[in-house]
Amino acid sequence: MAAKRDYYEVLGVGKTADADEIKKAYRKMAIKYHPDKNQGDAAAEEKFKEAAEAYEVLSDPDKRARYDRFGHQGMGGAAGGGQYQNMDDIFSRFGDVFGDESPFSQFFGGGGGRGGASRRTRKGSNLRIKLKLSLQEIAQGVEKKVKVRRQVSCKACGGNGARNGTDLRDCGTCHGSGQVRRRVQTMFGEMTSATTCPTCQGEGRTISHSCNVCHGDGRVEQEEVVTLNIPAGVEDGMTLSMNGKGNVPSRGGIAGDLLIVIEEEADQLLKRDGQNVVYDLYINFADAALGNPGIEVPTLDGRARIKIEPGTQSGKILRLKGKGVADLQSGTRGDQLVYVNVWTPKDLSADERDLLERMRNSPNFAPKPGKSEKSFFERVREAFSGN
Ligand SMILES: [Zn+2]
Ligand SMILES: [Zn+2]
Repeated sequence: MAAKRDYYEVLGVGKTADADEIKKAYRKMAIKYHPDKNQGDAAAEEKFKEAAEAYEVLSDPDKRARYDRFGHQGMGGAAGGGQYQNMDDIFSRFGDVFGDESPFSQFFGGGGGRGGASRRTRKGSNLRIKLKLSLQEIAQGVEKKVKVRRQVSCKACGGNGARNGTDLRDCGTCHGSGQVRRRVQTMFGEMTSATTCPTCQGEGRTISHSCNVCHGDGRVEQEEVVTLNIPAGVEDGMTLSMNGKGNVPSRGGIAGDLLIVIEEEADQLLKRDGQNVVYDLYINFADAALGNPGIEVPTLDGRARIKIEPGTQSGKILRLKGKGVADLQSGTRGDQLVYVNVWTPKDLSADERDLLERMRNSPNFAPKPGKSEKSFFERVREAFSGN
């Protein structure tokens, strides 16, 4: 390795140069040997690093005094040779010397650095699908397989969009930060504004040759069968989310989510009311008066039979325990409420008419509502309070 050049010589300034002179000299060197202007030129990169090292020492009064007394030996590890293996250090530490007038000023950020923390992990877009579910499926929970077209990482390039590794490089404009900063004059004074790098659209990298498969996008569309485990008790309009099953972002990052919007299909017979389901049962006048040991009603679990007691009034509410919809949290199922309606016949034959005429004035046919015949509102309140 060649002997270290004198720092004053590197910057081309005299031993008595003041801070301003040193700063100007460094700026000149940095612009001259800037990697953007000297792509692939190793010698220029060396000079760029050498100038940065010299500037680091000469711009610091303590280090400069030590250097003046002891030369390179005095610097020890503080600004030793080869310190700036990484260009990031130079950009992040000395960016401010370039000031406004430099053509590179916008490329240097305060604490940016290339490929550093300022390039945020990007998340891909969410996918949204609608999922129609029957009341039966909602009541007990269901596993559904759905086909989803989503953007997945391209296998050919590993998702970076480049044909091969050497085709991928840090963006020359923002040096990988994905942002450009510029100083702007505002009524509050000079401020720094950061905007998305126009060259790389904030990705921090550029590609010289694009991947043949994804054409540089880093992802391909793929149809996938996704298994959805829908818990019991979901509701119409509710959105469930599956992490990481959405689209991956272009050229690297984490996948978005798959959002599943629940659509409850109206049931022909059963109406949902929270955790309960309601069924309107119509029984004929004879069953209401005489009773019936087993009238069939539909439930979420198939057919069931219920007993009609003799003398059942219209509006009575019967309860089938545990035949409702499961609670999303506890999993406990609600009940099925059977609203009894006594059907009044509309078209009567002459015989039927005769029969009813004979019964019309029977004392037993006179309405005698007692304590057990509660009002409609009382019955509904009772039904919903679970008593
Ligand atoms: Zn950029
Ligand atoms: Zn690709």
